[in-house]
Amino acid sequence: TQLIKPRIRKILSRELSQELVEMLPKHWVQIGDVLILPLRQELEPYKHRIAEVYAQVIGVKTVLRKGRIGGEFRETNYEVLYGSDTVTVHVENGIRYKLDVAKVMFSPANVKERVRMAKVAKPGELVVDMFAGIGHLSLPMAVHGKARVIAIEKSPYTFQFLVENIELNRVQGRMTAYNIDNRDFPGENVADRILMGYVVTTHEFIPKALSIAKDEAVIHYHNTVPERLMPEEPFRTFREIAREHGYEAEKLNELVIKRYAPGVWHVVVDVRVFKR
Ligand code: SAM
Repeated sequence: TQLIKPRIRKILSRELSQELVEMLPKHWVQIGDVLILPLRQELEPYKHRIAEVYAQVIGVKTVLRKGRIGGEFRETNYEVLYGSDTVTVHVENGIRYKLDVAKVMFSPANVKERVRMAKVAKPGELVVDMFAGIGHLSLPMAVHGKARVIAIEKSPYTFQFLVENIELNRVQGRMTAYNIDNRDFPGENVADRILMGYVVTTHEFIPKALSIAKDEAVIHYHNTVPERLMPEEPFRTFREIAREHGYEAEKLNELVIKRYAPGVWHVVVDVRVFKR
């Protein structure tokens, strides 16, 4: 990036005012050969030309304008500024993730968690990923951790990539995918480990997670928490709901993943649950 920025500025300073050149994005995210560029409103009239220059200097096929992630399926809806093909394969930690960057979220800030999950999984244990996405967290568990994985993803579009990624990473023997709402998953008392990689409303899914869990299990519970309620939350609510359902909960570990909104953090707590 140290060499890239001056080159981009040099090219565009022939076409844009000095003031606009100062507003050019200094940071961006590259996923496979697709770039996500945060672009200020002032640059709107020049967005296609700017994207073209970034694409050529950095060497990517497509440039998207960074936008919001939202809705039940946590979908992105990024505007295409340059190129047309938004599907790519991103390689990280030895895992191949195929996805449509314009539609499916892939957060660079979650990389530590994807790497950590590769290490916590144990060979032979059964992991249920209740919010699998394209296999963000559970592919590392199947590939590196040699765990058996049941991956549940509700969005039909995201599910197609999950299925492809299981094949791309050659873990068909250990990993099975379901295109259903996790509340309709029929397995009870089966999981040694559960992934709850979701935000905002994750607590609503705790009773279902407990019914999927064995009498003793580990749950990686994600949620978004207002800073003023930390560090008691989100564990306090988790334990409360667990007790209502006949489980005791013990906090093993807690990590902040990223800032979600002003004053709100995305947190993950590793919880050991056991039947009382
Ligand atoms: N767990 C990954 C991570 O942390 O990087 C990806 C998480 S992604 C934000 C959450 C996924 O859960 C989305 O793909 C969404 O479609 C899916 N999802 C939301 N509600 C669901 C439900 N009730 N059952 C199954 N999947 C669901």
